[in-house]
Amino acid sequence: MSVLVVAEHLRGELRPVTLELVSAARELEGPVAVAAIANDPTHLADQLNVEGVDEILAVRVAPDEFENDVYQQAVEALIEQRAPDVVLTAFTVNSMGYAPALAAKLGLGFASDVFSLRNEDGALVAERSFYGAKVNAELEFPGKERVLLMLRPTAWPPAEGAGSATVTEVEVPLNGSRARHLDFHEVEAADVDITTADFLLSVGRGIGDKENLAQFEELADSMGATLSVSRPLVDAGWMPNARQVGQSGKTVQPKVYLALGISGAVQHLAGMKTSGTIIAVNSDPEAAIFNVAHYGAVADLFEVAEELEKLF
Ligand SMILES: Cc1cc2nc3c(=O)[nH]c(=O)nc-3n(C[C@H](O)[C@H](O)[C@H](O)COP(=O)(O)OP(=O)(O)OC[C@H]3O[C@@H](n4cnc5c(N)ncnc54)[C@H](O)[C@@H]3O)c2cc1C
Repeated sequence: MSVLVVAEHLRGELRPVTLELVSAARELEGPVAVAAIANDPTHLADQLNVEGVDEILAVRVAPDEFENDVYQQAVEALIEQRAPDVVLTAFTVNSMGYAPALAAKLGLGFASDVFSLRNEDGALVAERSFYGAKVNAELEFPGKERVLLMLRPTAWPPAEGAGSATVTEVEVPLNGSRARHLDFHEVEAADVDITTADFLLSVGRGIGDKENLAQFEELADSMGATLSVSRPLVDAGWMPNARQVGQSGKTVQPKVYLALGISGAVQHLAGMKTSGTIIAVNSDPEAAIFNVAHYGAVADLFEVAEELEKLF
């Protein structure tokens, strides 16, 4: 099966996920071409010349940095010119901006967050999970002559070893770009790392108001815990993203996870369900958090907090 890998780069450096895509591409047992879409693609070509890459397609475009619509047009043109059986992109915020749209436009088979794939007698089989990682499923793409997959970063080892790829300069027609990358803004360093804490006191929307947060910050301090939160508190701007537990936040595995006023949505559970001991306090006896909690109290969280304040 012939494969087209779309390289990702940032500030002139190849992103490590690109070499992971190359490892995945090699498993499909066919020629592997890697597209370097950049203002200076030849600079990237050196970094892309690893074992397993047969051809590097150097596509020169005006912007230095990633732009959704530039990539969408360039990859579409490459698919038309090269007709690969499989297109591999990374499951990253960049590729999410154009790859699903391109798959829909061209009627390609499509799957995101894929962590395993294989060529089964000429048919592509990809694996991904569903329902907040409760179920893994194998996907086939019957009737699709071409498939675009977005692969989960870190699921494959990076390809290594010197390669002997040929470099081909490819022209693609581009109709301008609706967006322009202007600048980078560095994310402020996180004040704490909740992923390494042994004891997390985690609060959710049940605390009601921003004003109540201070009480739980103090409680966490006196208990020797680190404060973490569910997503609504981050969305509301009450706490920085670095404190968020869950699918779109951090995955944590403390020895003790004490959840106050958190309902236990699958996206939250995805980030904490493997904690050592989970203790949940919720006024709703049906709250889903109790399904994963080792100890639970159907109680008002403020009353529990008051009792804890007396103890610590
Ligand atoms: C793509 C996507 C990604 C997401 N990622 C994340 C993520 O990373 N992390 C995350 O947390 N969420 C995430 N979410 C949101 C998630 O679906 C839930 O909306 C969120 O987790 C709910 O947060 P909560 O439990 O604090 O709030 P709620 O669901 O509103 O629950 C509040 C709970 O507090 C209880 N309560 C209220 N008052 C009291 C009281 N006085 N005493 C005791 N209990 C009380 C209620 O019974 C309720 O169970 C994501 C959603 C989507 C769609």
